Amino acid sequence: MTLLGQTLEELQQFCAKESFPKYTAQQLCQWIYSKKVDSFDAMTNISLKIRSRLKEIATVGRHAPIDSQSSVDGTKKYVFQASQVDAGAGQQYIEAVYIPADDRGTLCVSCQCGCRMGCRFCVTGQQGFHGNLTVADILNQILSIPETDKLTNIVFMGMGEPLDNYDAIRQTLEVLTATWGLAWSPWRSTVSTVGITPMLKRLLDETRCHVAVSLHNAFANERADIMPMQKAYPIEGTIALLKQYNWYGQRRISFEYTMFKGVNDDLNHAAELVKLTRGLRCRVNLIRYHASPYSSFQPSDQRTMETFRDYLERHGIIATIRASRGEDIMAACGLLAGQHSNTLDTPSIPS
Ligand code: SF4
Repeated sequence: MTLLGQTLEELQQFCAKESFPKYTAQQLCQWIYSKKVDSFDAMTNISLKIRSRLKEIATVGRHAPIDSQSSVDGTKKYVFQASQVDAGAGQQYIEAVYIPADDRGTLCVSCQCGCRMGCRFCVTGQQGFHGNLTVADILNQILSIPETDKLTNIVFMGMGEPLDNYDAIRQTLEVLTATWGLAWSPWRSTVSTVGITPMLKRLLDETRCHVAVSLHNAFANERADIMPMQKAYPIEGTIALLKQYNWYGQRRISFEYTMFKGVNDDLNHAAELVKLTRGLRCRVNLIRYHASPYSSFQPSDQRTMETFRDYLERHGIIATIRASRGEDIMAACGLLAGQHSNTLDTPSIPS
């Protein structure tokens, strides 16, 4: 049994089954989540007898990254082995990206090996789907990087669609925010989604994290061309759901909008975006696209992005052009899995 990722209640049940003292579960939480130790030997206030039994029947569940790359801008990409993948898929790797800034340290974590959403501009999407990550796999990315104590924010925007692995994401958020866990504020985490509406409703009802919707085009028919999930979960339904919630408190909703040259970057698209989000207090992050051998899309130029941003701002939407980070190590948005995937040896350019 892997203890990382277990809730206090689950650890209490585990300890009761093993006839350990009741307080052992609380001690395990303190060692694993507060003190972030990676071995039973380090748990010095637990008796030697219990530690010996724990070594026989359980693992802490921590494992160090197997590789890392540093960008000239300070961004770092870490590669981990995934513990659980589809039969026959072979060893799969997942990536987490640490993005330092003046007063913040953000970690972009992965939640799946590959992705089944199939967005045409995304390297992960071209990789196919090879399995969900466990709660332990997701938390391990947060706890096993050297910068773990510098983290101020977690964004679930790495490989995979978080709401396609909802139960693991919900439990990860529970561990992150519980007093027996990492005791983080819920507003230090942002979960991104293409808009799987039933799961988004659960996320909104069951957690307090920020939400980021991957929009990329406000015209439904054009969005369906680049994001196949638009056909199953139209963006209009996602917006209608979001409007049922209060966005005037600390919780935030943002829309991610990657800008592709000649595809979604003119003022007609900006006007449609304004129309679509009318009545919703939100912000829009305009993301510079990073060309890759796996896609035929090209980035919009800086001037076009600024014109688009200014239009949104003139129409009452807070819009930001997201600074480009980690492009040189394939760590930027939409590029994860490009260098370590064993399924991407032969680049294929979508038509
Ligand atoms: Fe999956 Fe996100 Fe890539 Fe779309 S953009 S294929 S949801 S990882």
